[in-house]
Amino acid sequence: MDQAPPGTNPSHVLKDCAGCGASVPRQDCHRNRYGEYICRTCQAAGVRFSPQRRRFHWLHRLIRVGRPWFAYVAVAIAVTVAIYMIIDRVASAPPAASE
Ligand SMILES: [Zn+2]
Repeated sequence: MDQAPPGTNPSHVLKDCAGCGASVPRQDCHRNRYGEYICRTCQAAGVRFSPQRRRFHWLHRLIRVGRPWFAYVAVAIAVTVAIYMIIDRVASAPPAASE
């Protein structure tokens, strides 16, 4: 009865902590980059993501770090293939002068 509809009063909106699952008021929790809410107790314990998100966090980090290298390797392979094709074309030119 005395509970306001969701979204009408931000100070009374309860959020489920992604670390421990407790319902905590919005002002007593932190919203991480994945939209998860972490309560102060979990923050003090060093929790920043839910266990599921932690795996994604490392995966995203790996992709973010690896992407420039992947682009570099892709360009290097493309250039190598292009040079190889040019050399191959020059080397296998019709032997017009020999006959
Ligand atoms: Zn918590």
